[in-house]
Amino acid sequence: MKSDHIRTLLKDTAVGTSVTIAGWLRTRRDSSGFSFLEVNDGSCLANIQVIADKQLANYETEIKKLTTGCSLVIKGELQESPAKGQRVEIVADSIEVVGWADPEHYPLQKKRHSFEFLREISHLRPRTNALGGVARVRSRISFAIHEFFHQKGFHQIHTPVITTSDCEGAGEMFQVVTEQELKDTARRTGESESFFGSKAGLTVSGQLQAEVFAQALGSVYTFGPTFRAENSHTSRHLAEFWMLEPEMAFCDLSCNMDLAEEMLKYLLSDVVAHCGEDMALFDKFIEKGLLAKLHHVVDNDFVRITYTEAVDELLKSGRDFEFPVSWGVDLQSEHERYLTEEAYRLPLIVTDYPASIKPFYMRVNDDPTTVAAMDILVPGIGEIVGGSQREERYDVLLGRMQEIGIDEYEYQWYLDLRRYGTTPHSGFGLGFERLIQFITGMHNIRETIPFPRTPGFAPC
Ligand code: ATP
Ligand code: MN
Repeated sequence: MKSDHIRTLLKDTAVGTSVTIAGWLRTRRDSSGFSFLEVNDGSCLANIQVIADKQLANYETEIKKLTTGCSLVIKGELQESPAKGQRVEIVADSIEVVGWADPEHYPLQKKRHSFEFLREISHLRPRTNALGGVARVRSRISFAIHEFFHQKGFHQIHTPVITTSDCEGAGEMFQVVTEQELKDTARRTGESESFFGSKAGLTVSGQLQAEVFAQALGSVYTFGPTFRAENSHTSRHLAEFWMLEPEMAFCDLSCNMDLAEEMLKYLLSDVVAHCGEDMALFDKFIEKGLLAKLHHVVDNDFVRITYTEAVDELLKSGRDFEFPVSWGVDLQSEHERYLTEEAYRLPLIVTDYPASIKPFYMRVNDDPTTVAAMDILVPGIGEIVGGSQREERYDVLLGRMQEIGIDEYEYQWYLDLRRYGTTPHSGFGLGFERLIQFITGMHNIRETIPFPRTPGFAPC
């Protein structure tokens, strides 16, 4: 059905135009001789007000029985609105009730519901102002990511969801088996008889495959779903999340950091420019000062410090952290947040972590106890980006793999990239939902993805 978007009607359409809208009723208010209907179609946060006169054929039989959630098709004329805060309203010529929403059972009545409650009805929560707004912002940022990389001449690579290499080596993979294989476990079929001929799992990162294409196309990115079977019940972890992973040949760590910083600033500016109404809602109801925070990030250089400097800063803070700090430990969220929220009050790029706490593919520094890693930390969240310059020297990489017991034959293809035309190259992984969290101010990452998956929870 062809209908007009409320977003367009509210902004640009001339008074006097005949219009058709298709949407859902938010509220109905009766006056003498007519009713006010507030209708939303999802095209924007705002509703449009519809005047339904008692002369309408179905006024008594249907319109006066409308409740929140009913779906409607309304034809009418756009008129100047005498009400405050809206340019126009629709005076209806006809209102067709497409679907009723039994008020006895429809859970989204006009009041504020907790996000915990809304998670229990994830099939209905996009109809709320906040979650509808998150969905629109998410869509816009996804678009802006493609636009940014397209402008920079990157090529998008679709890396596999099913993979046979555990990139992070953290043992947090979901294994992929067929139903038949499960039935056959009684007979214990060997790996070689499995569907792919070797153990397969859902990807934890597309990086290694992106490296393959960076070594042919130069600058590439992959952006897709990523899976981690980590049993962490935090407000920043999902079992299924989206990760953006650019990978660049002939690019060292500082080139990598420059790109990440430029990209983040681009995305923040873009969303403020294009999703003003939704962002204002988040600023008002979700995180006070959100827009000022985003402007502050866009307007200032990110602070760049080494891991060693970060540890010194934490030690001299005199703070009593839950996880004690010393050189060599991985930074916990409480440390990351102290650094970015209190010590520097800006996004922070921490570089040159100890090799012992980072994956095998990161480039070994000259010292040689650290690697050319870079994590970006932001206020309120902590790590949002994890990246590095990759080890491009065949012998050093092989040595690292042997040291930590990675099967070099399984990764022969990865080593080959260093044997034939190797290049200094680098890249990073941006957790898309953590970015949405930062941008919307949502406290819990479960509100940033349409259908969150966490331990014990995967509805719809
Ligand atoms: P963390 O220490 O916070 O668990 P990580 O070191 O495991 O993160 P990386 O392996 O470097 O993260 O992944 C790159 C990015 O992906 C992270 O910076 C983060 O933004 C995001 N990310 C990682 N794990 C998750 C998860 N379980 N849910 C959502 N986003 C995640
Ligand atoms: Mn992790």
